[in-house]
Amino acid sequence: MAQLLRQIVRSTILPSQRLLSTQASEAVGAGGPSFQLSDIQYEFQQTARKFARDEIIPIAAKHDQSGEYPWEIIKKAHGLGLINLTIPQEFGGLGLNCLTNCLVNEELAYGCTGIFTAMEASTLAQTPVVLSGNTEQKKKYLGRLLEEPLVAAYAVTEPGAGSDVNGVKTRAERKGDEYILNGQKMWITNGGVANWYFVLARTNPDPKAPASKAFTGFIVERDFPGVTPGRKEINMGQRASDTRGITFEDVRVPKENVLIGEGAGFKVAMGTFDKTRPPVASGAVGLAQRCLDEATKYALERKTFGVPIAHHQAVSFMLADMAIGVETGRLAYWRAAWEIDQGRRNTYYASIAKCHAADFANKIAADAVQIFGGNGFNSEYPVEKLMRDAKIYQIYEGTSQVQRLIISREILSNPKA
Ligand SMILES: Cc1cc2nc3c(=O)[nH]c(=O)nc-3n(C[C@H](O)[C@H](O)[C@H](O)COP(=O)(O)OP(=O)(O)OC[C@H]3O[C@@H](n4cnc5c(N)ncnc54)[C@H](O)[C@@H]3O)c2cc1C
Repeated sequence: MAQLLRQIVRSTILPSQRLLSTQASEAVGAGGPSFQLSDIQYEFQQTARKFARDEIIPIAAKHDQSGEYPWEIIKKAHGLGLINLTIPQEFGGLGLNCLTNCLVNEELAYGCTGIFTAMEASTLAQTPVVLSGNTEQKKKYLGRLLEEPLVAAYAVTEPGAGSDVNGVKTRAERKGDEYILNGQKMWITNGGVANWYFVLARTNPDPKAPASKAFTGFIVERDFPGVTPGRKEINMGQRASDTRGITFEDVRVPKENVLIGEGAGFKVAMGTFDKTRPPVASGAVGLAQRCLDEATKYALERKTFGVPIAHHQAVSFMLADMAIGVETGRLAYWRAAWEIDQGRRNTYYASIAKCHAADFANKIAADAVQIFGGNGFNSEYPVEKLMRDAKIYQIYEGTSQVQRLIISREILSNPKA
């Protein structure tokens, strides 16, 4: 199965074999609403599942303890074609749709969401370029990620501006054919290891300028003089992932690296989330499925009062509630991904999927720890890490409160009765 996938992946990358890649992407995108995976989707899913079990799970605890960036996994996944899945075929990628990307993500996240986030953050950075870049930008910056196992980073958040993106203070000033970039970003995943960054900066100094006109999106190379990543942050969970602040000091960015044009940055940065929130949700579902599997196994093995704890209804009902969260979380991200794959605006579904999966993953991880009892609180067992790893899903790519703001805005702007 994996061999076949490798053949398909390789052949889709080779321009001489475009026909096969076209067939592959058509198979992925074909048909109306269905729970039946296409052959291609199934093969990607199964390959990612095997990769997570054979390659990620065995080293996940080590990376959690050391915080070392999982380059060895990135390199293997790059070789196998399990990252950069949504880069369009015309620029050498596989051009897989959002749902197929999500299916792979769920499997990788099952192995370790810290390692998965290191991989997915690069897709987050690629997405503004895929959606808004011109041909030259796509060839140069997306092509680079396909040629070598490099990663990119999405740099919007600042020490003083997270949920409130309008508060971004990083400034870019036009000087001839360049922009001079100054400012400070914070909490940037892949911040210390990225080859290039998507950076949102204010280009209109007027504080009254609307967000829709005040900001510009740039591609900034790590090697541009004046770019300085800070120390690796020590986070509660997902410790394999590299999170840093980045300082930009008089960084000269050529005007060719502006996405769309001056003033379009807010739209570029926010439009990205419709495409990337379903994959984040799928990561949370992968984590939740892992919690359910670990807790089920333990509940069948551990005995109290003469029976496996699974035979106590209080425990089996917890497993049932976990399953409800996993299954509904999966349905929600499938719907959100499917909507955008149909070319429709999916903001409402993307926020529901992200919020639902994030909140449930946290409840499910806490319940998994509960089922493990004292062992659940100990790092010798897997669920303690899962509970730490789960928390960030309610924070990054828009907090659960921000998702509810978006969902309520969508409902209120289009009342049905
Ligand atoms: C590990 C990690 C990785 C990250 N990776 C990236 C990355 O790669 N790129 C990037 O740009 N950013 C990244 N972030 C930043 C992340 O997206 C922000 O932390 C997040 O958007 C929240 O912003 P904040 O931390 O400033 O919290 P704040 O915006 O200060 O919010 C604090 C609290 O107030 C709530 N709140 C705020 N406003 C409202 C409101 N209007 N109504 C109701 N509640 C509200 C929030 O929900 C939250 O609970 C990352 C963060 C972390 C921790």
